[in-house]
Amino acid sequence: MNRQRIKNTTRWLAWLMAAAIATMPLTAFAQTKISYHGNKFQPTDDVKLGRQAAAEAEQQFPLLRDSEVNAYVERVGQRLVTSIPSEFQHSEFRYYFKVINASDINAFALPGGPMYVNRGMIEAARTEGEMAGVMAHELSHVALRHGTAQATKAQKYGLLAGILGIGGAILGGPAGAAAQIGSQGVGVYFLKFSREYETEADLLGARIMANAGYDPRDLANMFRTIEAQGGSGGGGFLSDHPSSANRYARINQEAQYLRVQNRTRDDRQFSAIKERLRGYPRAQTMAEIQRNGGRYPNQGNDYPSDRTNYPSAPRDRVEYPSSRYRVYSESQLFRVSVPDNWRELQQGNAVWFAPNGGYSSANGQAVFTHGVNIGVTQTNSRNLQQATNEFLSSLQQGNGNLRARSNYQRTYVAGRNGLSISLSNTNEATGRAEVVNVVTTQLRNGELLYIIAVSPESDYNNYQNTFQNILRSLQLND
Ligand SMILES: [Zn+2]
Repeated sequence: MNRQRIKNTTRWLAWLMAAAIATMPLTAFAQTKISYHGNKFQPTDDVKLGRQAAAEAEQQFPLLRDSEVNAYVERVGQRLVTSIPSEFQHSEFRYYFKVINASDINAFALPGGPMYVNRGMIEAARTEGEMAGVMAHELSHVALRHGTAQATKAQKYGLLAGILGIGGAILGGPAGAAAQIGSQGVGVYFLKFSREYETEADLLGARIMANAGYDPRDLANMFRTIEAQGGSGGGGFLSDHPSSANRYARINQEAQYLRVQNRTRDDRQFSAIKERLRGYPRAQTMAEIQRNGGRYPNQGNDYPSDRTNYPSAPRDRVEYPSSRYRVYSESQLFRVSVPDNWRELQQGNAVWFAPNGGYSSANGQAVFTHGVNIGVTQTNSRNLQQATNEFLSSLQQGNGNLRARSNYQRTYVAGRNGLSISLSNTNEATGRAEVVNVVTTQLRNGELLYIIAVSPESDYNNYQNTFQNILRSLQLND
């Protein structure tokens, strides 16, 4: 290349870069725009849902009955609430804050306003700002009405109740919302939000932080703090949420465009509260609480130390699958026969069929030990094997111990080409080895239909026939 051409090239490049900067979207230099997702529910439905779920949560988890700690958390919470941008405020919502006496670094908020902050989260945070960051994130899910927005989306698949809770009848339609939650309110917080919703909650959370006088980067800092204290494997806020490295960067990027109003940085109260919490005996994890029966009347008793002697539920109370089957019909999509002593439990765009005792919860997620999960997911590829690979790696993200124990086998699913693969896993709730069989096929619209069968390794022989029968009975209506 001669000198003249190099010069031309350089000029050309400089021009290109100038053009690129000129045409860059304005948002690159400003706050990210956040808006509501489609939602068929009324804000009053959010309130009803949340109220029911809160009642159930308080039956399941022990509240910390310490008026000083509660008043403090309530104060920080209300400061965040008044800092919610006006377009995301709802006069119907009533925000309140309670502390759960559990050690997991976690917090959850329910539609319409109730929020539960774990004692472990307060103890892990290094500053009030870090604690407020987690609360602002959870608050944002509520303000953006993510619970009912996700339910609206699920309704399109005719699997509405899925989001609203695990188990129970599907009444359908926004009018049924209040009735649905009657039996399954607590399931509301079992839901996992999509990555998109999580990013929005981070970004709105950062804005709320700045408005409330906190450094929005403290929300990002909390991820590091959690990782330093046992990492994402410890369950809780990180494991319920997608990849923390990206979130850390994204929040810090957004923070550049936020002005902190009336900044206050005074951690004296926070330190005093932490000191007070150190005076309590070790808290159980949420999984331990649920394993031990998890029924908390939550009355009287100002000191939680004697909460450890709840009777343990026998671990193996799982009924054998009945040899009689009943038909379950998901009218728009499929029909399947399942043992008549199994329940169906909705979860996202999927339904679980499981025996009584075949599921429990760990870190606020429903965890199945026995049963079959049928669901639909979107993948980037229309090639069955690639789509299945994609699906398996998304499963693996949530289940770090999941390992293939076979190669793909060709099979037929409802008369269509399918793939099956057997995997091993360690169950999150029980810690026991389990077998996870995954079968996939494609729907006419290109989406991937999957059937996941789970049982403990030691029980596998008792379930294999049942799984086969269920798979053989499947009919697709798409
Ligand atoms: Zn979240």
